[in-house]
Amino acid sequence: MRDHPHEPNKNPNTPESNDPGMSRRSALRIGATLGSLVAMSGVLGACGSSTRTKSVNRIGDPLPPVADFKPSLPSSGSIQSPAPIQTASASLRELPSFVIPRTRWTTGTTRAWLADAQSPIRRITIHHDAISPSPSGRYDDSVRRLIAIRNGHLSHKWADIGYHYAIDPAGRAWQARPLTYQGAHVKDQNPGNIGIVMMGNYEQATPTPEALETLNRLITHEMSRFRVALSNVRTHRELAPTACPGRNLQLRMDQIRRPGGTLASAAASMNLA
Ligand SMILES: [Zn+2]
Repeated sequence: MRDHPHEPNKNPNTPESNDPGMSRRSALRIGATLGSLVAMSGVLGACGSSTRTKSVNRIGDPLPPVADFKPSLPSSGSIQSPAPIQTASASLRELPSFVIPRTRWTTGTTRAWLADAQSPIRRITIHHDAISPSPSGRYDDSVRRLIAIRNGHLSHKWADIGYHYAIDPAGRAWQARPLTYQGAHVKDQNPGNIGIVMMGNYEQATPTPEALETLNRLITHEMSRFRVALSNVRTHRELAPTACPGRNLQLRMDQIRRPGGTLASAAASMNLA
């Protein structure tokens, strides 16, 4: 019998079950870790929990060789619309060409015995990591941020980092938890739900144009290949009582999804409105 103490939708009685994706506690842990690395201060909680802890999680993963990954970034108008292969696991394993593979930032693998296999994709949920300040935009800084977030989630005995993708302020998209596994980012609503996190606290900061362009591109790509309707592209706060993804990112998500917005227009062109 498998045990899933870390996956919030699996064990409703564990403390972690109150933390869909990431708690203030884990954010504080991450904040402490990041603070030790880059002298950050003012770290705020992520994804809506109010539990506190004094424990500090150390970053233990060795950094993989870091050579700046320069994905091609054509305009959103050139995004391909591959035929949906909804049920094929091959499609879940296929990484969008502009996304940096997770092997570029971690040697760790998903604890498969703690994770559930992915269900057919039917929704996409947007988060922020709620950590201030935002990373610098330097490649190495984003790598450290990803490692810190993952270590925070592993400290809850989760299978891996909870989100499937992360986007940094420079507009890089990073693979996080493999899409073949169900994520851990919205309590009780993780099956078939792609989790995308924007690095930064968007209750305070404003998302960069580069990050927003990549977010729009990644959402459009995943909507297209998995046939996700626009109405199923949500923010965390639309699904649960949390401030995530912060008011400034929420505003931009509202803008791109309303009629005439970039995402709404893309959805209409794909018959996914
Ligand atoms: Zn969230």
